[in-house]
Amino acid sequence: MWVILIGVPGCGKGTQSGFLADNHKFVVISVGDILRNNKEKLVAGDGRMVGEIISAGSLLPDEVIVDLVSSELEKVDRIRERDVLFDGVPRTIGQAQVIGELVNSFGAKISHVLNFEVDHDIITKRLLGRYECSGCGRMYNDFFSTTKIDGVCDVCGEKRFCRRSDDNEESLKKRLAEYNAKTLPLVDFYRERSLLHGVDASRSVDDVRSDIEVILSLVERNKEER
Ligand SMILES: [Zn+2]
Repeated sequence: MWVILIGVPGCGKGTQSGFLADNHKFVVISVGDILRNNKEKLVAGDGRMVGEIISAGSLLPDEVIVDLVSSELEKVDRIRERDVLFDGVPRTIGQAQVIGELVNSFGAKISHVLNFEVDHDIITKRLLGRYECSGCGRMYNDFFSTTKIDGVCDVCGEKRFCRRSDDNEESLKKRLAEYNAKTLPLVDFYRERSLLHGVDASRSVDDVRSDIEVILSLVERNKEER
């Protein structure tokens, strides 16, 4: 099964793809991670560094994204026998078409597209509020889940925290605007192809997770495996 997750940054896609990788052995192709891991090396077509483009909230040219995805897929052993999940790609109709062809070239086709639907006000708080412990990597949020003792990590006692450089208000506004302009048309694109499944992502992580397991029929599969 080849699954695409779409949704505005901060909708919780990353958490769910981590869960699908850990519990259901999906290969996750996360464009955010690929870019963050390679940003020193990569230069976009117009000469700007990829890191600079991500920080500014701009989407990368389609061909850069598709090259990265293609080389990630080729690194995976026996990819044709695996379940694959795309997180953060495609983000435009152009990317959707090329990704579709790429998947076909592996003898597969996209089976499900999960659209994470969530209110933009919640997203704003999730993204602008989030910070990470520098010691153990535990995530916190100013609005939803702060440390029990102010400025001290609950898990490891660390006092240093970091925020992602692209989590500022200016960058977020730009990302949401770009999402509306370029990514929202994908919803119709996949709906027309009868691949789209809506997921109400404003609910708890556990509720969203069980929804996804039902949509992907992972519940039945678990039973069969036992
Ligand atoms: Zn910690």
